[in-house]
Amino acid sequence: MNTVVDTKLIQALDSAHFLHPFTDFKDLNDRGARVITKAEGVYVWDSEGKRMLDAMSGLWCVNVGYGRKELADAAYQQMMALPYYNSFFQTTNVPAVQLAAKLASLAPKVGDRSFKHVFYSSSGSESNDSNVRMVRRYWDLLGQPERKVIISRNNAYHGSTMAGASLGGMSGMHAQGDLPIPNITHIEQPYYFENGKPGETAEEFGVRAAGWLEEKILAVGVDKVAAFIAEPVQGAGGVIIPPSTYWPEIQRIVDKYGILLISDEVICAFGRLGHWFGYEKFGYKPDLVTFAKGITSGYIPLGGVMVGNRVAEVLIEKGGEFNHGYTYSGHPVACAVALANIEIMEREHLVEGVRGELGAYFAKRYAELNAHPLVGAAETCGFVGGLVLVKNKQTKERFKEEDAVGMVCRAHCFNNGLIMRAVGDRMIIAPPLVMTHADIDALMDLIHMALDKTLVELKAKGLV
Ligand code: PMP
Repeated sequence: MNTVVDTKLIQALDSAHFLHPFTDFKDLNDRGARVITKAEGVYVWDSEGKRMLDAMSGLWCVNVGYGRKELADAAYQQMMALPYYNSFFQTTNVPAVQLAAKLASLAPKVGDRSFKHVFYSSSGSESNDSNVRMVRRYWDLLGQPERKVIISRNNAYHGSTMAGASLGGMSGMHAQGDLPIPNITHIEQPYYFENGKPGETAEEFGVRAAGWLEEKILAVGVDKVAAFIAEPVQGAGGVIIPPSTYWPEIQRIVDKYGILLISDEVICAFGRLGHWFGYEKFGYKPDLVTFAKGITSGYIPLGGVMVGNRVAEVLIEKGGEFNHGYTYSGHPVACAVALANIEIMEREHLVEGVRGELGAYFAKRYAELNAHPLVGAAETCGFVGGLVLVKNKQTKERFKEEDAVGMVCRAHCFNNGLIMRAVGDRMIIAPPLVMTHADIDALMDLIHMALDKTLVELKAKGLV
């Protein structure tokens, strides 16, 4: 495969024809896009030959790293046998069935909740749209059609379709296009650094933050609330890791009022938190689990929902036709790649690695960033990490939004061969699960270097 390209030509065509997601088009055209041409292991290269350590796993998805021939072979073989067939009209295909059974075997039973069924889509956003449809159908079938309201959280990310963006709590997204759609409402996120009161412990804050759900349920009216949706750890919101007390209290509240719990694990499943599913890490009992990204390590689009017995039994037993589905629900090639991807993860014990010694090493090295003068708090959970850049370490004074410190730091990362993402004043990573100890050391050296250079620049600008 020829990866040598004329950068200027590709950039010109890019500007002329390609509208990128979540992008200020004019600004990008002025600057020109970075052209990524190849990748291997945990590194990507741009068209100028620059190598970068991809600490974001693409977009939180390339869990097994780049260059896995096995995944390409799985796609090739399935394309030759059966590249496509639908699963609408009393038909099915072998990889979709095998994957559903495999997922059912990987999803652990918690309490009275088990997962035997899967509904497929091609992305996280579509999967959350399916959740909205399924949750409302569930309550309709139980004779409670007035239970329509889904409660989510500010700064959550649940996708970019109309329902996905509405479930999400991104004010910038809501501002464009009259969102959220009706019957979706939000509570505050469990971000201790920002919302903890002076003298309040993280554990006390966790209980208080979960209490906002109970307040909202009572304000909306118990008989109108259908479900609560949340990510185990908020990813795109800036890797917001909830205090240990948060999820147990959320569970108590959803149980008390009988509302469904949706765990959006588009980022957190498939080893990201050291478990096959994120709910295992925190020990709660979801009714529906959204997945995408890591199921194929991003090699091909696939998403879906694990449908727990509580919902599945009603849909199946009381059902009739569920008027919802996608052309690519259960796509044979995507499912074949997912099976091969899971096989790699099992054979190489990647999930155990993140949960075990490798994950502990990553956590220990990442925690060292707390000593840096610009870092307010650096935390990890499995293989996600976040840190907040602060003006004053002692007082925890934050920078102003217009200082754009995250973007300053991100530029130093890129320039020095590291892909780290900025969310406001938070710098975040989600490295591939195949990182070695040496890769983690290299990553930490690069982060330190980027932080040092950021400090120098901010000092020169008089911001610190
Ligand atoms: N939910 C979560 C938690 C996500 O992180 C994302 C994507 N970052 C989505 C949903 C949407 O997934 P997609 O971009 O595949 O539609």
